[in-house]
Amino acid sequence: MSAATVVVGGGIAGLAAAIRLADAGRPVVVLETRPRLGGRATSFEDPRSGRLLDNCQHVVLGCCTNLLDFYERLGVLDEIEWHRRFFWANPPHPPDRLAIGGLPAPLHLAADFLRQRRLTWSERRRIASALRRMLAMGRSARLRETDRPFADLLAELGQGPRELEQFWSPIIVSACNLDVDDVASSVALQVVQEGFLAHPFAAAMGLAKGSLLSLYDPATRILREAGGEIRTGVSVKSLVHEGDRIRRVVTDEGVIDCAAVVAAVPPDRLAKLCGSSLRDVDARLSRLDSIEFSPILGVHLFFERPFTDLPHLVLPGRPTQWIFVKGVDGTGRFHVHAVVSAAFDWMSLDEAAIAERVLEDLRWAMPDATIDDPVEVRSVKEKRATFAARPGIDRLRPAARSPVGGGIRNLHLAGDWCRTGWPATMEGAVRSGYAAAAAVLGQEDDGLVDDLPTARLSALLGLTR
Ligand SMILES: Cc1cc2nc3c(=O)[nH]c(=O)nc-3n(C[C@H](O)[C@H](O)[C@H](O)COP(=O)(O)OP(=O)(O)OC[C@H]3O[C@@H](n4cnc5c(N)ncnc54)[C@H](O)[C@@H]3O)c2cc1C
Repeated sequence: MSAATVVVGGGIAGLAAAIRLADAGRPVVVLETRPRLGGRATSFEDPRSGRLLDNCQHVVLGCCTNLLDFYERLGVLDEIEWHRRFFWANPPHPPDRLAIGGLPAPLHLAADFLRQRRLTWSERRRIASALRRMLAMGRSARLRETDRPFADLLAELGQGPRELEQFWSPIIVSACNLDVDDVASSVALQVVQEGFLAHPFAAAMGLAKGSLLSLYDPATRILREAGGEIRTGVSVKSLVHEGDRIRRVVTDEGVIDCAAVVAAVPPDRLAKLCGSSLRDVDARLSRLDSIEFSPILGVHLFFERPFTDLPHLVLPGRPTQWIFVKGVDGTGRFHVHAVVSAAFDWMSLDEAAIAERVLEDLRWAMPDATIDDPVEVRSVKEKRATFAARPGIDRLRPAARSPVGGGIRNLHLAGDWCRTGWPATMEGAVRSGYAAAAAVLGQEDDGLVDDLPTARLSALLGLTR
C-alpha cells in the first residue's frame, strides 16, 4: 500500500481536514484515540442513566460560515435549528428580549436593544456608543489590540461596572471562555465585530436538534467512498521524522508510513507526540507548552415537571451564565442544561454543590416559576475546555503550514488553537482543518469559504478590513 495521508485526531478540526481531502479525491486515514468522533464537541453515554448526553451545549452562530459549510458537506445542515431571539433574565420582571429585527446591520438588534429594561437609558447609550466606536475602529484594530485585556478597551470606551456585568461579560465569557478582565482585546473585538455588527444573520444562534455525535455519522461513509477510513480507539504515540519530512506515525496498533500528516490534536497532546529533535527543526512546535487552558462546566438537570416555556436564557451577573431548555425527554423528565464558562471557581466543587449553585441561579432568574429540586443531575467538568485567549496569545498560535524554507514540510497543524483569528470555537477548528487540507493539497490559499458580506452601513461606519 502506498504511503497515506494521516489525520491525527477525529475532532472537528481533524474531520474538517479529512472531509476536504476526501472531497478533493485524496484518501485519508483518520486516527482517533477515543471510541467516538467529535472530540470536545461530542456526546457520551451517561453510565448512570444510559442516556446519550452532549458533553456541553454547543452553539453555532450565523457568522460561522466554514462550520456551516462543513455541516453541509456532511449533509447535516438540516439538523441545526436556528434561534433569532435571545432572552436576558431581569427578575422580578419578565426577561428582556433581544431579537434580530428587519433593519440592516448594524441596526438589526437596535429596536430590541432600546427596550432592554435591565439597563438604564444612560447605560444603553454608553453601550451603543462603544459599539459605534468598535465599528469605527475597523477590523485592522484587531492586529493592534493583541496585548491588553478587553476590559482596558471597554474602560477607554466609557464602559462602567454595570455595562460590563449586564452586557459585555455575558457575551464575551460565553464566546471566548474568559471574562473581559482576562481575554485579549483582539479576540473579544473579533466576536463583537463579526458576531454582532457585520451582518444580521451573523448573530443567529444554531443548536443541534439531535445529539452532537450524530452530526458526524456521515463522515465514515464519505471517507470510505474516497478510499480512506476512520479508525477509532487508536492512539498515536509519536511522529517519526527524517530530515524535513515525517515518515512514520507510530500508534498503539502499529506503524503507518505516511506521505503527509495533519496533526489535529490540542497543543499539550501534540507536545507529547513530538520528540525534541522534531521540535528543534520546526519552530511551530517550540512553544506548545506555553499555551494555557480555561475550563467550562456543563450541567444537565432533569426535573419531574416543566417550569418554563423559554428556549434559553442569559443570566447576567450570575455565576451560571446560560441555560438551555432541552425539553421533556423520552423518560418524561424536563431537561435543562446550564453552562458556566471560565469556570475556574467551580472545578473543585462536587456535583451536589454544583447543583445547589445552579438551582439558586435558576430560582433567581425565574422567581415566579415553581422549580422543584432536580431528580437527576449530571455535571461535566472540562478543565482544558479551550485555550486561554489571554493578551499575547496571538503570538503563540501557530499557522497550519510549515514556514517557507523551514520546518517539517509535510506536517500540517490543525485545531481550534491554531492561528485562525477566531476564538476557540468549532468555527475556528473547521477553519484550521480546511487550511491544513489546503496545505496538504499544495493550494496557495487557505481553502476557506467566504465570510458573510459586511453590510453596507456597517462598512460605511468603519467596519472595513
Ligand atoms: C464544554 C465545552 C463547550 C463548548 N462550547 C462551544 C460552543 O458553544 N460553540 C463553539 O463553537 N465551540 C464550543 N466549544 C469549543 C469546541 O468544542 C472546540 O473549539 C472544538 O471542538 C475543537 O475541535 P478540535 O478538533 O480542534 O479539538 P478536539 O475536539 O480536542 O479534537 C482533538 C481530537 O484528537 C484526539 N486525540 C488526542 N490525542 C490523540 C492521539 N494521541 N491519537 C489520536 N487521537 C488523539 C482527541 O481524542 C480528540 O477527539 C466548547 C468546548 C467545550 C469543551
